[in-house]
Formats: sequence, C-alpha cells, structure tokens
Amino acid sequence: MGRKLLMVLLISLLFLISIKDFATSDSNNLHLSSEGIWLKGDMHMHTIFSDGAPNTVEDRVQQARKNGLDFIIITDHVTAETDRKTLIAYYNAVLKVDESNPDITVLWGFEWTYRWHILGYGLTPDDVELLSENIQEAITAINNAGGIAFFAHPDWSGASYNDLYVLKGLRGFEGFNYGHMESFIRPGGEWDALLMSGKNYIIIGGSDAHGSEEAGQWGTTFVYCPNATKKGIIEGLKRGCVYFSESIPINGSWRPVFRLGFTVNGTLMGQTIMLSSEEDEVTVNLQINLSIVEGKSFIHTISIISNGKIVKSIFGGTSSRFSSDILIPHVKVPSYFRVIANDTNGKYVVSNPIFIGKFAAKMENPANNILRGIYLFSFLLIAIASIAVIVKHLRNKSKFQPPST
Ligand SMILES: [Zn+2]
Ligand SMILES: [Zn+2]
Repeated sequence: MGRKLLMVLLISLLFLISIKDFATSDSNNLHLSSEGIWLKGDMHMHTIFSDGAPNTVEDRVQQARKNGLDFIIITDHVTAETDRKTLIAYYNAVLKVDESNPDITVLWGFEWTYRWHILGYGLTPDDVELLSENIQEAITAINNAGGIAFFAHPDWSGASYNDLYVLKGLRGFEGFNYGHMESFIRPGGEWDALLMSGKNYIIIGGSDAHGSEEAGQWGTTFVYCPNATKKGIIEGLKRGCVYFSESIPINGSWRPVFRLGFTVNGTLMGQTIMLSSEEDEVTVNLQINLSIVEGKSFIHTISIISNGKIVKSIFGGTSSRFSSDILIPHVKVPSYFRVIANDTNGKYVVSNPIFIGKFAAKMENPANNILRGIYLFSFLLIAIASIAVIVKHLRNKSKFQPPST
C-alpha cells in the first residue's frame, strides 16, 4: 500500500520536474512560428445609437470593406441614461449585420462615457447594464465579465500619467484617436513612464468616426489573432501582439502606410522574454515596409526605444523597405523594447512593447503567475508527501528489524 502510494507520488514528482520549464521560463510566449493571423481593424466608431448619425451599423461595414478592413468594433456611448431597450436594440443590430456580412467581422463594444471615456470589448448588454459610474469599479467589472478595457483618447480627455497609473485592470489606451497621435506615446513620454513603472499597457488606435467620418479613416490597428473569429480578436488584443499604422487616402479609400514586423530574440509583441544576468544582449529583428510605394514617400526615421530612451536610430534615405537584425548590447533587466517609425510624409507606425524580464512578478501576464502559483503549490505538496511516505516506510522497516544479537 505504502509502496504503491510512493510510486504514484514519485511519478507525479518526475512529471512536474519534466514540465518545470513552463513554470520558470517564457515557453508559452508567442513566437514567429506560432499559429495566428494578422487582422486589420478599426477599434472605435459611433452609429445612430449614439452620436454617429446618419451612419447605421451596415454603413460602417460598407466603409470598412471599402477601406480594406477585416474587422470593426462599434463603440457607441453608454452612460447612466442609456436604457436597456436601446442597449439591446444596438446589440442585436450589430449581431445581425455581422451575420449578413461574412467577409467583415463586426464586434459589439461600447464607450463608457463619464469624466473619462473607457472602451470596452468582449461583453454583452447584460454586463454593461451593471457598470458603475466609478471608473475603477467599471474596469474591474469589465475584466470580471471576461472583457477588455482601454482608456480612450487621453490627450482629448486631459488625462495625465497618474490618471492612468492608478487604474488596475486596464489593458492599455488609445495611442491614436480621430487621426491624432497622442502625446503619451512620444519617446520618453507618459507611456514610457507607465511601462517603466511596471504597467504593461498596450496601445490601439481608432477613427472615433462620428457623423461624417468613415470606419478605417486615418489609420489601422493590426492584431495578431489565434483565429479570425470574434473570440480570436479579443484573445489577440489580450495577448498584445498589436501595432498601429496611420493611413492615407488612395483613389477614394484609406490604406495603411506601413507594415511592421518586430521581434526580440524571436518573440512577438506583448510577450515577456526572461533574461539571466549573463545574457546582456538581444537581437531585435525589424522589418518595415511602406505598403504604399509608387515613389510617393520613403522611410524617414526608425527609432528603437528601451526604458524611455531611443537606443537606436536608423535613417531611411530613399528606401521603402527596411529589414535587419540589430544587436542591442547592455540590456537592462527589467526593461522593454518598442519601435516607432515615420515616412517622409510624416505618417507614423507604432509598435507595442516586447518586455524583458528577470523578476517574473513585475512585468508579467497575471494569468501566467496564477498558473505558476498552482504549479509550485502542487510541486511542494507532492514533494512533502513523498518525503513523508519515505520516512514512514523507513521507520516501519527499522521497527521490524530483528535484534542484532
Ligand atoms: Zn470619447
Ligand atoms: Zn468615441
């Protein structure tokens, strides 16, 4: 009986030792080889359900198709005055239009509108009806319901570093809104300060299209999604492999200026690479293409930013493509890398960060930490039980030993 139990415990222990990489390294990070698909979208727009008239949800889909988008998120204003009937009508309209337009994924979102504006994705009217007027309570409720929350247009709202720093559960904020690049994202700005203080915020961008603007106007958010479903898009946003490119009008439709490829040691945006102190250099692989060539513009400047400082500047000259491995020595731990580039017309592409960690607690996905906690707890429990069974076994053995003389 005791021997059988011991075998089971030892086998469990060996199993846990064999999967210990999961608990100690970044083995569940996204790499270039990970299965996924890049989708182009607009994260913020209004319809007749708030201040987007005359645009219906169907109008927004037609604009998205014209502007080459794969998905749009309708984010009409929601306040304490929004009644349940309106909320449900708006939800059903989005579902119906999504079903009748299989080439464009239409997600239902909302803009929680009080002193600050919060974009909420991945919820239903039942969840939204219960949202408090208190911003922290609203963000917590969005997360608890499985959704995701972004702070809208911090510049327009007059928000400061501290207004975003005090919030818990925010996935990030708008780096671009209504064709405007937020001052938060300039090198050494509030975003860098937030990242350095351990807030792993990512940026997204949206047209915030109201009456006369179009879905997909001014820019495009690129999201690397596990699949092209609504769930896959929300999951992609949670993971954070996301970048934003400004757009320009070409023959009556808006097209993103840039395509960006950005990895550090083969790991994608939004992920954390763990470095030991002996490894003090990383390889940044960067590919930037002007998707609109025709000799109209060239890459102007590419900046790699780490811990609030530009660690590498590359000047484009007269090229429309850049592709290179860049070795960055003396990497601080913890830190992060991000990229910002512009073309000769002054249009920008902005990456999200890739985090460099040594101490897992500070800059990591909380879900991984919970799994690691469960792992370590079971490891200890099984190890203690094994020792207890071994000790008991040895004691029993010595008890029944015949006297030596
Ligand atoms: Zn707003
Ligand atoms: Zn808005």
